[in-house]
Amino acid sequence: MELLLVFDVDGTLTGPRRRMHEDFSRFFKSICRNYQVFLVSGSDMVKLEEQLPAEVMKLVTGIFPCSGNEFLMDGRHVFRMEHYFPTEIITFLEDFVESSPYQVRAGNHLETRTGTLNVSVVGRNAGPKQRLDYYNYDNKDGERERLIDALAQKFPDYEANIGGQISVDITPRGWNKSRVYGELSSRYPGQSIAFFGDNMHIGGNDRPLGDAIRNGSDENQVFAVEDHYDTWRILQHQYCPQARLCPQVA
Ligand SMILES: [Mg+2]
Repeated sequence: MELLLVFDVDGTLTGPRRRMHEDFSRFFKSICRNYQVFLVSGSDMVKLEEQLPAEVMKLVTGIFPCSGNEFLMDGRHVFRMEHYFPTEIITFLEDFVESSPYQVRAGNHLETRTGTLNVSVVGRNAGPKQRLDYYNYDNKDGERERLIDALAQKFPDYEANIGGQISVDITPRGWNKSRVYGELSSRYPGQSIAFFGDNMHIGGNDRPLGDAIRNGSDENQVFAVEDHYDTWRILQHQYCPQARLCPQVA
């Protein structure tokens, strides 16, 4: 049986908002030559191109940016799901950002991508240190969980998931990464899938796809990874048929 390897990008193949590690990218390219590889990211293509080497982008079989609301193969769109978010939800989010007790505002707090609205109290212009500070604050304070609960109450037709270190992704209900499972299982019937993601906890943006893949078949595997080193180690142990393809983890 053939195997499809599916990866989240940020935090799974790269450090948060960082470029892919050079040694890892060499290793990952060999994985791409041996398996059908798909990328699933909350980011759009512009951000993905910043994070991943062009060669990796070319070697993968398919890319699902914008939480799976777009799908590209061979550089061409297979689909793109547009959605226009109502003013009420945008105003609600602007108010939430403004009234947060968190002090730092780096700018770019609300961003629309295909089918997704991304909101961040600290702002997407935050540097690595500011991102980590907010991430630590949120871990203690649970601000993003509170926002997700408030959205569920006020806008039941929408769903929200924690995305990356600093933000929350909002989509119409059902428009999450789990769409990817439907697409892959109909395109490649009978093939098993292994999925890697760093946000697999409840409310995490990899969770809906992780659940869909796990429930889809006993053959499928879902890996909740700590970071890209963890992904590297698992790939080395489980999916590296030839030792020469597998430089050791740095
Ligand atoms: Mg991630």
